[in-house]
Amino acid sequence: LTAEELTKQTLTEINAKEDKLNTFITVNDKAVDDAKKIDADGIKGPLSGIPIAIKDNIVTNGIKTTAASKILYNFMPVYNATVMDKLDKAGAIDIGKTNLDEFAMGSSTETSHFGTSVNPWDFSRVPGGSSGGSAAAVASGQVVAALGTDTGGSIRQPAAFNGIFGIKPTYGRVSRWGVIAFASSLDQVGVMTKRVEDSASVLSVIAGHDDHDATSSEKEVPDYRANLNKDMTGVKIAVPKEFWQEGTHQDVLDNINKALESYKKMGATVEEVSLPTLKHAVEVYYVLASSEASSNLQRYDGVRYGYRAKDVKNINDLFVNSRSEGFGSEVKRRIMLGTFALSAGAYDAYFKKAAEVRTIFIKEMTNVLKDYDLIMGPSTTTPAFKIGEKVDDPLAMYMNDILTIPANLAGLPAASVPAGLAEGLPVGLQIIGKPFAEQSVLNAAFALQ
Ligand code: GLN
Repeated sequence: LTAEELTKQTLTEINAKEDKLNTFITVNDKAVDDAKKIDADGIKGPLSGIPIAIKDNIVTNGIKTTAASKILYNFMPVYNATVMDKLDKAGAIDIGKTNLDEFAMGSSTETSHFGTSVNPWDFSRVPGGSSGGSAAAVASGQVVAALGTDTGGSIRQPAAFNGIFGIKPTYGRVSRWGVIAFASSLDQVGVMTKRVEDSASVLSVIAGHDDHDATSSEKEVPDYRANLNKDMTGVKIAVPKEFWQEGTHQDVLDNINKALESYKKMGATVEEVSLPTLKHAVEVYYVLASSEASSNLQRYDGVRYGYRAKDVKNINDLFVNSRSEGFGSEVKRRIMLGTFALSAGAYDAYFKKAAEVRTIFIKEMTNVLKDYDLIMGPSTTTPAFKIGEKVDDPLAMYMNDILTIPANLAGLPAASVPAGLAEGLPVGLQIIGKPFAEQSVLNAAFALQ
């Protein structure tokens, strides 16, 4: 199979399913030319000729990048995110840009300016979010691999809802340069595929230090794929009892228990632990993430790029009208919440308090990982919910993230791997590892696959 043939096949798959699924915001019309070039030049790297879909909050030189927002509806980047340069060097083909919640704020893709994506398992349900387009594109067979980003669960929750594998690496493992910032202390780029092996290959390509991102780690990048192994003997697994939320679907719990039993049979030990501060994780996350977002989103002013309001009388109206018309309501809610939490009168009670509780929570997670190799539990409390079910109830939507937020607050690597069905819909087992122990996370997922 040539790169050109594979790319054309992938485009056919995308076109055949796109009407139903709405997973792509932009399909790359230069993909076939890129593939031809690879066929002509010969093998370029470990991903030579492999089409990969890219979440549309990762900037791509010469390919429209919108973050699913009206405010960036026409934004044509003049540079590549570092992960795109790395994929390009490895020979991967950018097949197009996938749908997401606006600025990655959401858990369902319903806040996208370009309309919701749809879950390929059941068209009446959400694919999760915010990387819902990437997840549904992989699950439906449109593409083999997709990049996502994960600030509070946006790779793992849609991976769980679509019955695929998704991994968020350790904070600092992958460069954030050129990733449209949401909450800079939490954001990470990761990979979504059906097979663990394929995520391992892509992760080795995109990981590594970058001079453009001071938070990216100098640690050497392992060949995750070559080092994959299924040996779980002696692996110590901690299961926080607080992960067994009230309201978690019984079939989800049964499936997670079944997965834990299989690990025991493979020679792992499974023990219950406690993370008492988990009950505050959602509040802490939404205060911190919104505060960082309110600061990061100041740059969209209608002057330099993106949407600009018409018929304005002065510069102030230009700012106000461009932002009022350009941002959707969920993004505005976060900007207001964050601006408030950072304001002089509220800072101590909200931002500072949330940062302090985050520190306490990180200590709890770190303590558990002193005695255990992995933390496991469900990725989500329920399978994919219905389109429209939570979109008008922000608190219900936020609570949905309780099980994925911990790994972001603590900067830990975490994945979701398929673990059975609930009411005919996929369930995900979440696997959290020690800092930079992506290999252990991948291995445990590989062992279950
Ligand atoms: N659902 C969470 C939020 O709305 C997480 C989003 C993400 O990880 N990008 O903030």
